[in-house]
Amino acid sequence: MQAGAGSLRVSILSVGSEVTSGDILDTNARDLARMFSERAARVTGHRAVPDDLEAIAAALRAALAEADVVVVSGGLGPTADDITRDALALVAGRPLVTDEAVADSLRARYVQLGRPMPEENLRQARLPQGAEILPNPFGTAPGIALALPGGQRVFLLPGPPREMLPMAERVVERVAPDLAAVRRTLRVHGLGESQIDEWLADLMGDGNPSLRPYAKEVEVHLHLTARAARREEAEAMADAVEEEVRRRLGPALYATRGESLEEVAVRALSERGESVAFAESLTAGMASARLARVPGASAVLKGGVVAYSDEAKRSLLGVGHDTLAQEGAVSARCAAEMAEGARDRLAATYGVSMTGWAGPAHGDTQPVGTVYYGVAGPDGVVAVVRHHLGQRDQVRRHAAQTAIDLVRRRCLGHYLPPTGRPEEAVRAATRRQGGA
Ligand code: ATP
Ligand code: MG
Repeated sequence: MQAGAGSLRVSILSVGSEVTSGDILDTNARDLARMFSERAARVTGHRAVPDDLEAIAAALRAALAEADVVVVSGGLGPTADDITRDALALVAGRPLVTDEAVADSLRARYVQLGRPMPEENLRQARLPQGAEILPNPFGTAPGIALALPGGQRVFLLPGPPREMLPMAERVVERVAPDLAAVRRTLRVHGLGESQIDEWLADLMGDGNPSLRPYAKEVEVHLHLTARAARREEAEAMADAVEEEVRRRLGPALYATRGESLEEVAVRALSERGESVAFAESLTAGMASARLARVPGASAVLKGGVVAYSDEAKRSLLGVGHDTLAQEGAVSARCAAEMAEGARDRLAATYGVSMTGWAGPAHGDTQPVGTVYYGVAGPDGVVAVVRHHLGQRDQVRRHAAQTAIDLVRRRCLGHYLPPTGRPEEAVRAATRRQGGA
């Protein structure tokens, strides 16, 4: 396979019983992987095998099954345990032949040293028929390059890093075109990783472009990478995937250039000259604090009320006696009244509230994680409910995140998901959800 499409696959193999026994750390694999990844090639895997002909041959076959280029380090020296070249000859089905130029220079070296050359040294001049010698400026064992009939290429490099690294630089120059890589993080709130995976199944994977999901505590990130010969081409490929993800996930996709949820919410509010005030029970200020982290928050965050007790909900936010007596503090009605209270008393465009069970205590019929949210605006108030999973602090972090997402959605005119079911998260608004 050719590298032109920006999907050069590279597999790395470290040969040496010193590595597999744990006597030395496999820094060659790390350094090779880094060099190739920086050049926008894709490293499909690393292997390490002992100095054993069958093991090296099997690893070479496995590497060739997954990659266009296989880079091997170690086992090229003059001693009997240096058998990497023998393994390659076996796998490629070619005899080992002696490169006379290399043999001559090995002999010349010993003439210079004034001693007889052990016959074994000539092993270093042997290579599979049709292979090419790679000069080693810092040692005696040259490297070997072999092109296979299908177009795949194998590079054998010596083990010592000070010899291997300069040679690897030249291999990278040779095989990995300097591709432009565009990387984006698509951030999603309100959908689980497996749901996203199902809806985006055909877009997910390690190809080019590649899209991979990472579940964070309160949201999911999708890492998007596109590679091409030119930057504009890579950008266009990334744009196409991003558009398709947006089409399927709708407003659940809240950022594509690494912005945090609170940054998006603050920007949305300030672009419209609008503001928000929070009424926080179980989160006790976490939503306000997250918004305040964003530069420019002062223009859009009016303030927040920490209303933990029933008494505070009544006196600071004007929640009705009847509401608390009949429905309790963890209820849609209480959330709605808290949101309206915050909006009125702090003179904000929107009031957003959260009240719920963070745990371990919970209601008679309400499990830990039950949280009601109120969103009050110029045209009325809406209450929604969520059932968050996790321990006390996790529930609180989910609640702060959801409240900020509700601010974002309300401000941008998106649908406010009433229960948080997946279909709701991706639904586009058709009309304002209003009315108490
Ligand atoms: P030499 O001619 O020195 O024998 P070689 O190609 O046969 O070179 P090895 O015998 O496998 O290489 O390893 C020689 C030395 O190189 C090891 O003792 C170790 O210090 C270093 N080395 C080998 N492989 C690695 C590796 N994967 N990571 C880091 N260092 C390595
Ligand atoms: Mg050796």
